[in-house]
Order: sequence, then C-alpha cells, then structure tokens
Amino acid sequence: MSLVLAFLIACSTGPTAPVAPAPAPAATAAPAEAIHADAGVKPGSHEDWCAEHAVPESQCTQCNTSLTAAFKATDDWCDEHGLPESHCKKCNPELKIERPAKIQ
Ligand SMILES: [Zn+2]
Ligand SMILES: [Zn+2]
Repeated sequence: MSLVLAFLIACSTGPTAPVAPAPAPAATAAPAEAIHADAGVKPGSHEDWCAEHAVPESQCTQCNTSLTAAFKATDDWCDEHGLPESHCKKCNPELKIERPAKIQ
C-alpha cells in the first residue's frame, strides 16, 4: 500500500478548472436613428439632417465635398475652417442650425 501513489491518483483526478470560452458580446443594440440621411430625402425636411455635423445633409460639405463649389460661388465659404461661413460655428459662435421639425 503506497500512500504516495494514492496521493498522486487523487491529485490527477482532482477538479480542473475548465477554460470556458468568453461569451460573445451581444451586438443587438439597434441604432436609434441614422446619423446620416438616406439618399433621396427631401432637402429641408426633418429627415434631411446630418447628425454628425449638425447641418442639413443636403448642405453638408463635410459629407459631400461636391457641395463646396456651390457655397463658394455664393461667397458663403470660410477658407480658414473649410466650411460654409453659414455653417461655421468657429467664426459664428452664436450660430444655431435648427433641424426642421418632423412632420407626422
Ligand atoms: Zn455630415
Ligand atoms: Zn470659420
């Protein structure tokens, strides 16, 4: 009778902590509202809004650089900040661009 052998057997059959795979993060959070307007929304409508830049999406030169020329053509352009002057809150800290109300 070997106590050492018995001890080894007890050890080898002892509980081992199983490494459980970490549960995958639940990516079920649906976005409450789109940040950018869909193509084809009516300009000037509630849906025509760029939440990222807080201007109407149809006038967002940061999302659509091809709009820049139209602003420059009407002399509505801030070269320093690369924005239409009428959107430039750095030059016009009082500026508030309101999102049009949603028509139910
Ligand atoms: Zn934008
Ligand atoms: Zn500016």
